[in-house]
Amino acid sequence: MPRAFVTGITGQDGGYLADQLLGEGTEVHGMVRAGDDDAVRDLLARTPGVVLHDGDLGDAEGLRRLIADVGPDEIYNLAGISSVAFSWAEPVLTAQLSGVAAATVLDAAWRLQEDTGRKVACLQPSSAEIFGHADSWPQDESTPVRPVSPYGAAKAYAHHIAGVYRGRGLHVATCILFNHESPRRPLAFVTRKITAAAAQIGAEGFGVIRLGNLDARRDWGWAPDYVDAMVRSVRHEAASDYVVATGQTHTVAEFAEAALRRAGVGDSWRDHVEVDPEFLRPNEAPILVGDASKARRELGWKPTAAFDEVVGRMVDHDMELLKRGKA
Ligand code: GDP
Repeated sequence: MPRAFVTGITGQDGGYLADQLLGEGTEVHGMVRAGDDDAVRDLLARTPGVVLHDGDLGDAEGLRRLIADVGPDEIYNLAGISSVAFSWAEPVLTAQLSGVAAATVLDAAWRLQEDTGRKVACLQPSSAEIFGHADSWPQDESTPVRPVSPYGAAKAYAHHIAGVYRGRGLHVATCILFNHESPRRPLAFVTRKITAAAAQIGAEGFGVIRLGNLDARRDWGWAPDYVDAMVRSVRHEAASDYVVATGQTHTVAEFAEAALRRAGVGDSWRDHVEVDPEFLRPNEAPILVGDASKARRELGWKPTAAFDEVVGRMVDHDMELLKRGKA
């Protein structure tokens, strides 16, 4: 039975990854931070089969020992700061956890492979944010890396160090993930912020969603599909970089409209959206949309849910939470 080690297992992607790997018969070990009690409880309630270990991305020696002790065949480095908005407030922490920590994980994997003579295959999740103000779209694996946010810069470093360790003989795949959403998205992300508010407005008939840039265009997919691409790239015979995206782009305003309509607000959706400068960013990519042809061709991957389905599933979930008094 293959053994996987997952950092960031309590996050959106980590949870879906644990579900998929356990479902396929892989033994799943996850690293959790001391103090993450609520997230750990939720994870164990949903996915009781995972084996959890205390650890910290900032503790290079501890992480090296943990990876050597667990002895995984596959490593998925999903931990780190995941919010672009948060990275503007904490740029140094973001650089450490979403950037430099990748070198720690990959170095530990490489040492394990050297010491045991067994292949250790790794997944580094890159982000569309590494492209920043791209000159062309859709973006693919050859688009120049030119980030415009602290998060994008940190992920760009991690993307490059993944290539460095691939050159050193480690199987390191990167998935350049475009935005991928689900009911498990935290409220810090615009999609979940909108769907949670839309459900409330639909139920009460009043209320306003205060948002930043309504014109930003993003390529929003269904998170479990993106996790599936990660597993496929780790198990593909050759390690490479893969854009993972739907190829469809929508504005934040279109997301808000779709969510409010789904919640039953109808044509009056415009009355429930306002721009608040507090949520504007110092700089950001105006359009992110990806071309996943390489993942389709080499990994046999394709998205299973279109924009309307992603929005619908998230709104329905938030309406259900409200009904059960759990929002
Ligand atoms: P990101 O693409 O990883 O930064 O994911 P987000 O969900 O945080 O943001 C997606 C897009 O929504 C970005 O272009 C944001 O500028 C835009 N946006 C507009 N209003 C908001 C808001 O109120 N909160 C967040 N998080 N993003 C917003």
